[in-house]
Amino acid sequence: MTIPEELVQKHQQAGKIAKEVREEMRRTVCEGIPIIDLCEKAESLIRKKGGKPAFPCNVSINEIAAHYTSPRQDKRTIPENSIVKIDIGVHVDGYIADTAVTICFNPDYTGLVSTAEEALKKAAEILRPGLSMSRFGATIQKTIKTRGFKPISNLTGHLIGRYLIHAGKSLPNVFHISTSRVKTGEIYGVEPFVTVANAAGRVKNGKEAHIFRYSKHRSLKDPYAKRLLNYVKKNFQALPFTERWLQGCVPPSRFKTAFSELLSSKTLISYPVFIEASGKPVAQAEHTILVTKDGGLVLT
Ligand code: MN
Ligand code: MN
Repeated sequence: MTIPEELVQKHQQAGKIAKEVREEMRRTVCEGIPIIDLCEKAESLIRKKGGKPAFPCNVSINEIAAHYTSPRQDKRTIPENSIVKIDIGVHVDGYIADTAVTICFNPDYTGLVSTAEEALKKAAEILRPGLSMSRFGATIQKTIKTRGFKPISNLTGHLIGRYLIHAGKSLPNVFHISTSRVKTGEIYGVEPFVTVANAAGRVKNGKEAHIFRYSKHRSLKDPYAKRLLNYVKKNFQALPFTERWLQGCVPPSRFKTAFSELLSSKTLISYPVFIEASGKPVAQAEHTILVTKDGGLVLT
């Protein structure tokens, strides 16, 4: 099977941008910096380099494993002694690269970070056509457990499609029985999440949600809700977005009612923050990897 040239080129372009932005963010994150400055910096760098954000920049701290992005006028800052996951998505014409890094300001948590990185390295080594999802999960679990830590069992890597972050197939970070296998030409976001050995090792939904995506057509009453929805579909299709990206789209006095109708009608779905169920710190490492006949090719 040959892999289409356009697919490879545009994913590589997205991957290069994602990598550069991730490394710039790694250097930028520091204790006390406003989270909204980090989100906006990452997103504007992506645009400056010729890509578009495939989802809002996630800045998830300590026991928050994923899905936090700043709401408008966010006053929060990076706390002292924290462990910070920066997760970045870039697309070029819908061809997506997804990558994440953990930055650690707490000497007690450095083992979590190196273990997540080693698990990702291992994943990149073993990813090849024909590999079963069961085998993949078992290998990642063992890599993490051997180092005295625990994988988050209900967060997985994922097949990436055009304009689709999660294209159906999951790459588990723990063993589970599955007949699914990796195929040539597939592109995966590979992302082990690691916590401490005495943690629950799973995430639950938090109360906050600042990331949304278009789900399904519904009839809407409010003309401003319709206008917002047209903007969302035109600019993001079904990719995740955040309220920060909708400013100026409808008059500020109309925004709240319009956005509420899009949520209550289930036109949009929201992504709540994921919190480690026992409140323990979490580290993450992620690359986007193309499966070639010779094995995994890291694009980020
Ligand atoms: Mn990601
Ligand atoms: Mn991902």
